Amino acid sequence: PPKMTSGSGSLLRTPETHVALFPSAGMGHLTPFLRLAALLLARNHCPPLKLTLITTHPTVSLAESSLISRFLSAFPDRVTQMDFHLLPLDPSTVNSTDPFWLKFEAIRRSAHLLTPLLSSLSPPPSALIYDVSLMAPVLPVIQSLPYHLPAYILFTSSARMFSLFASYHNLVASALTPANINNPTIQFGDVLEIPGIFPPIPRSSVSPLLLIRNSLFSNIFLEDGPKLKNLNGVLINTFEGLEAEALHALNGGKVTFNDGFGLPPVFPVGPFVPCEFEKLQGDDDRDQLRNWLDDQHDGSVVYVSFGSRTALSGDQIREVGDGLVKSGFRFLWVVKEKLVDREEEEEEGNLVIGHEIMEKLKGRGLVVKSWVEQGEILGHRAVGGFVSHCGWNSVVEAAWHGVRVLAWPQHGDQKINAEVVDRCGLGVWAKTWPWGGGENDKLVVNGEEIGDKIKELMQSEALRVQAARIEQEAKKTAGVGGCREKMLKRLIDEWKKN
Ligand code: UDP
Ligand code: UDP
Repeated sequence: PPKMTSGSGSLLRTPETHVALFPSAGMGHLTPFLRLAALLLARNHCPPLKLTLITTHPTVSLAESSLISRFLSAFPDRVTQMDFHLLPLDPSTVNSTDPFWLKFEAIRRSAHLLTPLLSSLSPPPSALIYDVSLMAPVLPVIQSLPYHLPAYILFTSSARMFSLFASYHNLVASALTPANINNPTIQFGDVLEIPGIFPPIPRSSVSPLLLIRNSLFSNIFLEDGPKLKNLNGVLINTFEGLEAEALHALNGGKVTFNDGFGLPPVFPVGPFVPCEFEKLQGDDDRDQLRNWLDDQHDGSVVYVSFGSRTALSGDQIREVGDGLVKSGFRFLWVVKEKLVDREEEEEEGNLVIGHEIMEKLKGRGLVVKSWVEQGEILGHRAVGGFVSHCGWNSVVEAAWHGVRVLAWPQHGDQKINAEVVDRCGLGVWAKTWPWGGGENDKLVVNGEEIGDKIKELMQSEALRVQAARIEQEAKKTAGVGGCREKMLKRLIDEWKKN
């Protein structure tokens, strides 16, 4: 029960509602958590919320540690940071070399150590919102606490991807037959049918790691899906204007489990948008970028970025450069050669792009190798198109700013997100282009084709109009009295009861 604390004089103050947030590794996970935190802190409800942010050190990328400090300085009074110490992880026990996945796994395996940390919080939180990648291992911790703690996950991708996450164990169970049980790949049909999810998800859109039995990724999905029913809710950075059908299917009881249980309520709390605290102060590169954009015509620039953790191969990077030249459009291109920014900073120059292409690119656009403020770029009037890997945060940011997208998914959930982009009309998806992983890494899309697609994107009036329509929906959802506010209020009212 909440404690009554006495304020100045003899007046009793209403107790604060205290919420604990526990994000996982990578900007694609941290950013939406901190944007959610800012939304919760910004609401004018009485009494104001108090947040505890649970962090792990060291972060995988420099971008993460820098963002955490900026967030904490922005809310010095209402956020408490708690450092969660991880058990060392022996990388040889994990079937992946991706540093972000190793960190996810280290946090998963240390989850039981959360018990003393959560037990020590005062006042006890009224809710815990934690990252989807920690879904199952945190549940026993919650049950072992000396107080009742409602649990929510923040699902850091699309509602469409969530439908796969929630149904994966059922789909695998149906795909296994006595004849194929020893086969290392899971024999899904050409499409994965999930009730209410239309169009069904093609097998070719599913990450290769989810098609192999016993991969780290597949095992996590198998373990987590059946336990979703133990949660009080699932928060997703999405909104009706992007994913009305999937949201109705998920909340309308259509997606159910074999054991008859439905899903916990899904709260579309998006769109999450770039916040004030994310801004890099006094950054020369940023000023230079802005000045350059200021000199360009409205809607004339194509922005190219594959997110915070996807490095294209050297060959592919050269072809993208060639494609940008061939498109004839002005561009702002963020080139990433390494998965983790720490390694990137140790390298000098534009070696991968090569001198010849750099010469051709000169005067037509900007090539950037550092972290950029994507929100500011997408919001600039000069930017008219976005070549994107379709990390979910990027998709929602494009929708928020009404910038049309050329979807070029690379990994994981990105093809499924590209389907959302394609279906709602925010952009086009170059379906035949290969995505990353294994042998595919050797396949390269040539510059000619890339240039043509960019032209198609930038010249399409229909896409421009539809993207503007989606932006209007996003602004309405996020406005005063809009759906996002209603969702957040519903959650906070639930938490207040604790
Ligand atoms: N981002 C940014 N500047 C960069 C690279 C990425 O601001 O130079 C932000 C981007 O706006 C988004 C997040 O980092 O909010 C990346 O998340 P997303 O889901 O798009 O892709 P991921 O990086 O996880 O693949
Ligand atoms: N990967 C990447 N960027 C991403 C996601 C994955 O570079 O945003 C790489 C990473 O090395 C990973 C491999 O792709 O080990 C295969 O991952 P997959 O896309 O199948 O799953 P994910 O790691 O995205 O969940």
